[in-house]
Amino acid sequence: MPKPASSSRPRDVCITVDMEPDCPPFLWTWRGMEEGAPRLLDLFARHAIPATCFTTGESARHSPRVVERMVAEGHELGCHGMSHTPFPQLDREAARREIVESSEILRSFGPVTSFRAPNLLFPDEYLGLLEDAGYELDSSQGKHKQAWWFGDVTPPPSPPTSLKRIPASTTSSVIRLPAWLRDRFLLSLDGPVVLFVHPWEYVDLTRVKLRYDCRFRTGDPALSDLDAVISLFKREGARFLTMRDLAAAA
Ligand SMILES: [Zn+2]
Repeated sequence: MPKPASSSRPRDVCITVDMEPDCPPFLWTWRGMEEGAPRLLDLFARHAIPATCFTTGESARHSPRVVERMVAEGHELGCHGMSHTPFPQLDREAARREIVESSEILRSFGPVTSFRAPNLLFPDEYLGLLEDAGYELDSSQGKHKQAWWFGDVTPPPSPPTSLKRIPASTTSSVIRLPAWLRDRFLLSLDGPVVLFVHPWEYVDLTRVKLRYDCRFRTGDPALSDLDAVISLFKREGARFLTMRDLAAAA
């Protein structure tokens, strides 16, 4: 259930894109990076807004031209791990390797100081690995995944870390919901509003055997939905920032 409307309108909005293979762990093809990512970058260019692209090391290896373009067009390049393996499945050494290897590949394109773990799952005991690798921001949490956000449960204490932790505000498929429901919900979110999408949502997967929330309204409809959401926040006077700039402004 959405939270009741906040009295203060959202002002700061970060559009984030998790640049990864298609709908892991179900497909692992690359149509999103090949076809969807360029369409997203075209949309951001049309709106003249920056995005933050949390990219896996393997995606950068597969689609280096896309990564070059996102950096050249002023988007923030962030890290989304190497292989999209969920970090809770990795022991400390394997987690360290995922971070070090992906960081090395991504930093050959530009500075990388923001991180988001696959599936928004990152064990607190691994935060030190991100600090050691020079990260300043972690966006591996989702407000929509946390019971305390929905009710009267007390938020868990934050572990000590030098990282700024800025969670995603909601799950990606919300943007593809009917406008009357979606817009009311999005405008009720507390700021900063951190939206996230994936390049594979901008490829038509409606006839692919997939979980319904992964495939409904994918392709052209998803692109016009995101276009409409950006326009909605623009009408509300929102400021579009990268995650790095949002952290600096906080
Ligand atoms: Zn992901």
